[in-house]
Amino acid sequence: MICSCDVASIDRLADRKQDENWRFRAFLKEECDLPDAEVDRMVHELYGQEAAKIDCTSCARCCSTAPLLDDEDVGRLAGSLGITSDEVTSRYLKMDDDWGELTFNQKPCPLLKDDLCTCYAARPHDCWSYPHLQKEGFRHRLISAVNNASVCPVVFNVLERLKDEMRPHGWNRHTSGRGRNR
Ligand code: SF4
Ligand code: SF4
Repeated sequence: MICSCDVASIDRLADRKQDENWRFRAFLKEECDLPDAEVDRMVHELYGQEAAKIDCTSCARCCSTAPLLDDEDVGRLAGSLGITSDEVTSRYLKMDDDWGELTFNQKPCPLLKDDLCTCYAARPHDCWSYPHLQKEGFRHRLISAVNNASVCPVVFNVLERLKDEMRPHGWNRHTSGRGRNR
């Protein structure tokens, strides 16, 4: 098993594991016979352990993704920054064409300074809940999980450890080339 707490190595490791991770997604969706609740329980436990090993303040890689913001998020940021919601939108946000929702207008996020969030207490819900492994329904967010394994070392490590835990349930026997499009 490859695991990393070294943020700098995550690009290289994730690249090596990308095809395998898409096959693991196909396995979890189509072959693994564990109930969703049991898969969630395993992911939640692994997430708690792996998140505790990594200092997010020395990473901030997820602040170079594109979190989505709703009106409540914008209002909260406005209160924190001492400006109006319209000013938050015009200074820091743009419309995400794919999702039809607001996102930040720069990557990394314009509110990130020296790898720290300058509005941490008022950050958008999407930032607060990243990398989303604490939620229910892991099997329904596998595309996001595989994509986030290339961004977040916590997600990468959880997937690696979940593969190990899935060996008794058939993951090791999975040899087909199915993946991303299924
Ligand atoms: S609001 Fe804060 S946590 Fe969210 S992307 Fe920007 S800097 Fe990162
Ligand atoms: S949640 Fe993941 S990507 Fe974001 S700062 Fe923490 S370790 Fe890095």
